[in-house]
Amino acid sequence: MTILPPAASTGRQLAVTAAFLEALNVGSSDASWRVDALCAQTDPEAFYPEKGGTTSQAKSICRCCTVRAGCLAEALERDERFGIWGGMSERERRRTATTLRAMR
Ligand code: SF4
Repeated sequence: MTILPPAASTGRQLAVTAAFLEALNVGSSDASWRVDALCAQTDPEAFYPEKGGTTSQAKSICRCCTVRAGCLAEALERDERFGIWGGMSERERRRTATTLRAMR
């Protein structure tokens, strides 16, 4: 089964596939994806915009990031409340987490 994260996500959507669900089992103890985090080479403030600020710059970087699935999986697992992770805002991650819980 393939579902997509909330329509509110901008740009290319990250398909929530079996491979993605498998990535959810990575666990927060395996943070190897961080080595290739594209955001580590950019302005970190773009990933933590002020309330009402734009998220488009951070999301456009995430769309080019090769470790997006692992990043998003960890943020979902940790119920990360702040910032852009895996190309999703906190609100988008909450919706995705709700969808994933419904699938289990
Ligand atoms: S997906 Fe986005 S937030 Fe996650 S590591 Fe890549 S650039 Fe950083």
